[in-house]
Amino acid sequence: MKRTLAAETTSAVEKEVLLQGWVNTRRDHGKIIFLDLRDRSGVVQLVIVPSTSKESKPTFEVSHITAEDVIEVVGLVKERPAGMVNDKIATGRVEIEVQSVKIISRARELPFPIDTDGYEVNEEVRMKYRYLDIRRPRMRENLRLRSRVTTLIRNFLTERDFVEVETPILTKTTPEGARDFIVPSRLQKGKFYALPQSPQQYKQLLMVAGLERYFQIARCFRDEDPRRDRAYGEFTQLDLEMSFVTQGDLLQLTEELFTKVVSELFPEKHITQSPWPRIPHKEAKEKYGTDKPDVRKDKNDAGELAFAWTIDFPLFTQQSKEDFYYGSGKAKFAPSHHMFTAPHPDDIELLDKDPLKVRGLQHDLVLNGYEVGGGSIRIHQAEIQEKVFDLIGFTPAQKVQFAHMLTAFTYGVPPHGGIAPGIDRFLMAALGEPSVREVMAFPSSSSGQTSVMDAPSVVSKDQLKELGITVATLKKK
Ligand code: ASP
Repeated sequence: MKRTLAAETTSAVEKEVLLQGWVNTRRDHGKIIFLDLRDRSGVVQLVIVPSTSKESKPTFEVSHITAEDVIEVVGLVKERPAGMVNDKIATGRVEIEVQSVKIISRARELPFPIDTDGYEVNEEVRMKYRYLDIRRPRMRENLRLRSRVTTLIRNFLTERDFVEVETPILTKTTPEGARDFIVPSRLQKGKFYALPQSPQQYKQLLMVAGLERYFQIARCFRDEDPRRDRAYGEFTQLDLEMSFVTQGDLLQLTEELFTKVVSELFPEKHITQSPWPRIPHKEAKEKYGTDKPDVRKDKNDAGELAFAWTIDFPLFTQQSKEDFYYGSGKAKFAPSHHMFTAPHPDDIELLDKDPLKVRGLQHDLVLNGYEVGGGSIRIHQAEIQEKVFDLIGFTPAQKVQFAHMLTAFTYGVPPHGGIAPGIDRFLMAALGEPSVREVMAFPSSSSGQTSVMDAPSVVSKDQLKELGITVATLKKK
């Protein structure tokens, strides 16, 4: 017999069906036992009258069934009597008269309730048992919505001639202003890969390669302290890059894409203002005191999505100690965005005279006061790129790290630019979730512990030996 899903039972009245899933709840009413069976489509009520069930063996099993057991039942779909209809569930006008039950697998008592929204449960415990935490309706819905968002994005962009390309994870540093994660090489002992902080250099190289329109739902790795809008270690962004475009083209495309995402997938939300306001950095600072202005009309209104652009950022900021990953640490300037952002064409001369006055062609995407993405028109002239390297204090050795970019730029490079809206961040802001971890399947905890699996963890001496690595703290013991 073919499996029927809970949600399909409403169109199978008076038919015999086979259902498989989890026991959501159990209620004993004298001789009658009610079980709610849950599967990926929803829940449906099972009615078991042990004495009338066809087989006696399952009847025995019924007395043992508890919440979260996985069961299989065969039964007849019945319309509920008028007074018994439950409007709260989609299958509320039917129930299943059970003929036989089989327990497929038993469940121990869960470490926390899953019929609540879960915010009240200790987060470390939620992460340790994330596979149970995801059983709660809110989490399942968040992950489903996330999947719909990325599917819409893929369709939208491929229809517009974008090519989805996967770029390497084991690679060389791509600085976005954070610390790199590094991975030791076994084949070349003493050398290391870096996990990409973003696919920035690869996407620019794909423009040199002539793809013209690239995107990737890309994983990015940054070793920086977690915040509520940033999980530890990794996050996902829609990374895209285009050739022969203006900044205006990029903003318009992004606006069209996210307007479609909201209207199709968040129909209960409305966008405050369209076209989205484009606010120069200086004005944002003066008027709102931040470069991430929250331009909602009513901040208590959960339905409001206020998108805005911040533009005309200064190309450089004063370099501080935290900018150690750029340059020699002795330079005066650090890039506001990253080192590949183009200076405003009207300000090129200021690069030599007064670098802090140079505006960059950077654009930040802001949603309800969160920075949900950033991008820029890029430098495509090797000499300007070198000048920026010098201004941020790159040593000759550091310049060599990026020589491939300068070399690539000598083979015919189109003017290009891009943007990378954060998927986790967008979902967090759009859903009004308190943290990005609520929209990620298996995020790390705030102390950098992975969910469910015990990482980071020590590795065997043999593994270290193979890599030619000795760990100082291990040696002491
Ligand atoms: N690579 C940038 C980032 O990850 C985005 C971009 O400039 O396109 O923030």
